[in-house]
Amino acid sequence: MQNTTFRWLTLLILTTFLLTACSPATQPASSASTLKVLAAETFLADIAQNVAGERVQVQSLLPLGVDPHTFEPTPQDVKKIAESNVLILNGAGFEKWAEKTLQNAGGERLVIEAAAGLTMREPKLEMHEHEQETHTDHHHEGDPHFWFDPTLVIKYVENIRDGLIAADPAGKDVYTTNAAAYITQLNELDAWIKTQVEQIPPQRRLLITDHETFGYFADRYGFTLVGAIIPNATTEAAPSAQALAGLIEQIRETGAPAIFLETGRSPQLAEQIAAETNTTVVTDIYTHSLTEADGKAPTYIDMMKHNVTVIVQALK
Ligand SMILES: [Zn+2]
Repeated sequence: MQNTTFRWLTLLILTTFLLTACSPATQPASSASTLKVLAAETFLADIAQNVAGERVQVQSLLPLGVDPHTFEPTPQDVKKIAESNVLILNGAGFEKWAEKTLQNAGGERLVIEAAAGLTMREPKLEMHEHEQETHTDHHHEGDPHFWFDPTLVIKYVENIRDGLIAADPAGKDVYTTNAAAYITQLNELDAWIKTQVEQIPPQRRLLITDHETFGYFADRYGFTLVGAIIPNATTEAAPSAQALAGLIEQIRETGAPAIFLETGRSPQLAEQIAAETNTTVVTDIYTHSLTEADGKAPTYIDMMKHNVTVIVQALK
């Protein structure tokens, strides 16, 4: 009897040894993969981590609090990309550094564009060229801020899931199960946002933001984008005096109660506009980066819930 137990144990240990000694592609689904996965932004890394689970550690390329619109990779960032097996981008032109950096980094990796397959909205608040002081060639691009509609993030999750399965087929079951569980959470978030927004009278569902960040959010939850301090879907522009005067006029016409200033942006212009229009500046909005674990937006879902809570508070 004892002998039999011993034999079974030996066999078990031997099997475990053989399995762990194998290449990533043949690893059992329960163990960690050696795949190096990088996601461009912090919120994207969190979304991807929910799909990867314990099988893969997803690193964020951008540090907390950095504006992805103006990010330029350092040599260390290029090294991180060069060493990665999988790079996850938001896509839709959001990572303007990506193409050149990927050419320079060398090596081979799977690039997953999370937003692939989604239909881009055209920025509605975009300035005419003569109204724009800092002219950039990003003028006529679409809006990459899909992540403000959790139902569009479902597409992100599906693309990340399929990309991870392509890079690590042995993890298929893990990625599939995790993605399904996270999609359930995204649908719950969507339902929660709808009930929260119901507290705001429809005529007060008016948004003024730093730049045109909340387009998909507005489309999904019935808000009107009154204006933006930078009337563009990027932060790489500055408004002219004429554009600011137009914004002030629109705030007065619509009676929009608040200006939502994203964290990390200079409050000067917002305060100036608020003083002229008798509106409030709400500074506590997290849009392009998560916070530390003890902050208000440590995960994508936390970020959305926090923003919705602040928006409802200011507008209801
Ligand atoms: Zn943006």
